[in-house]
Amino acid sequence: MKLISNRSGKFVVPGSKIGVIEEVLPGQGTYVENGKILSSITGNILIDLLSRKVTVLSKVRKPIVPRIGSIATGVVMNVQKNANIRMFEIDGKSISGFFSGLLHISNVSNRFVKTMYDAFKPGDVIRAKVISTTNQVFHLSTDDPKLGVLYALCSNCGAPLIKNGYVLHCPSCKRRKSRKTASDFIGQTTR
Ligand SMILES: [Zn+2]
Repeated sequence: MKLISNRSGKFVVPGSKIGVIEEVLPGQGTYVENGKILSSITGNILIDLLSRKVTVLSKVRKPIVPRIGSIATGVVMNVQKNANIRMFEIDGKSISGFFSGLLHISNVSNRFVKTMYDAFKPGDVIRAKVISTTNQVFHLSTDDPKLGVLYALCSNCGAPLIKNGYVLHCPSCKRRKSRKTASDFIGQTTR
């Protein structure tokens, strides 16, 4: 793993060997031949260690990649101590494929958050800011009124949740749901 991460940023040409499928997943700008991942374009290697995906970024076209300060939109994949986010839009631009982001509980909100489950649930669509790219892991924050959940469905009945102050509620089964929402949460505010 250490070896492959050292390859990030390396300049490659079509046919350059990047790695093997046992260590990383082939992403955009790559192809697989006999178990080897090769570059299909001229550019630089980008390795997303969280999803173990390798991408080659073209020298010619300015690539859309998460950078410190980028605003990303993504789907919450799983929630434990951290939340894993699959980012599909960076600074308002859709990307083909995705990057993985990691959101730690200390970066959720300036309000006290007891557990990650009080802030996010798998399937939520959220907006977050990239605060660090240390070790090729994209660390995210939602600690801003404009950041947080944009759209969420009820985990009991699947209805879109509606925002009411700091809580969300289900118009169908009437359950209350806790989330760290963005100020422009898509569900209608009822007060
Ligand atoms: Zn419901």
